[in-house]
Amino acid sequence: MKIAAYIRDGVPRVGQVSADMKSVQDFDIPALVAGRGALAIVETQARGENLPKLLAPVALSSVKLKAPMPQPRRNIFCVGKNYFAHAREFAGSGFDSSAKAGGDIPEVPIYFTKVPECVVGPTDFIEIPLGVSEAIDYEVELAVVIGKGGKGIKAADAMQHVWGYTIINDVTARDWQQRHLQWHLGKSFDSFCPMGPWLVSADECDGANIQVRCYVNGELRQDASTADLIFSIPKLIETLSAGITLYPGDIIATGTPVGVGIGFKPPKYLKHGDVVRQEIDGIGFIENPVRNSSIR
Ligand code: MG
Repeated sequence: MKIAAYIRDGVPRVGQVSADMKSVQDFDIPALVAGRGALAIVETQARGENLPKLLAPVALSSVKLKAPMPQPRRNIFCVGKNYFAHAREFAGSGFDSSAKAGGDIPEVPIYFTKVPECVVGPTDFIEIPLGVSEAIDYEVELAVVIGKGGKGIKAADAMQHVWGYTIINDVTARDWQQRHLQWHLGKSFDSFCPMGPWLVSADECDGANIQVRCYVNGELRQDASTADLIFSIPKLIETLSAGITLYPGDIIATGTPVGVGIGFKPPKYLKHGDVVRQEIDGIGFIENPVRNSSIR
């Protein structure tokens, strides 16, 4: 099942995307509830309730897709340095304030978060905040969406708590990430979390072994399998839930593979006019243009 959030006839809706991805059917729920996107549906299922009735299909091309979780219930949990080749790339870039000589591969998952308000849709602009940072980088990531909540979840049971997956671009201001010795600020700027194009349920998508790719202006920059994650999805859930109760709709971005902009010498930062396309097999793609934003 694919669940999308979108605007149709000027009204927020949430609906189910057809198997051929050409049409979508609204769930029969009030606009106020639909404004929460797929979160409303994930929570309904987590309560063990039946899904709302579906209305007549309309062409997918007739709606404006939003992020499937346009208003996440709380910060997005993110994992740093979770692919071997990227961990080495980042440590060697000079931007990793946590890098230790000979200790580039983390021994435990590195977690940080992004504020919910930085989420934008699958075709929305990524804004370069002129005067604040122009060292803006892209990171394609498989994002896990929690279905059934819990605390103290063991790795062996963790997949029972996964509702499904989506794509997240963990956009980053590298200079802020480096200077402030902590990643929250440089990862949470407005527009720094493009998400979409929809949620795909776990029964339709093998998150443990799918290919993730990122293109900038058509140039392939990242291309890796989630089979190369240092810490698996069950391990990430076990670690996160040990002390923090997880709730339906919580989002965990699993880390990005090698090929980010700071891996190049000189770095290839995003600039006005660029287009970032990120795709994950079995989910779809998001494609976000980049523009300068003068906020001062
Ligand atoms: Mg990341």
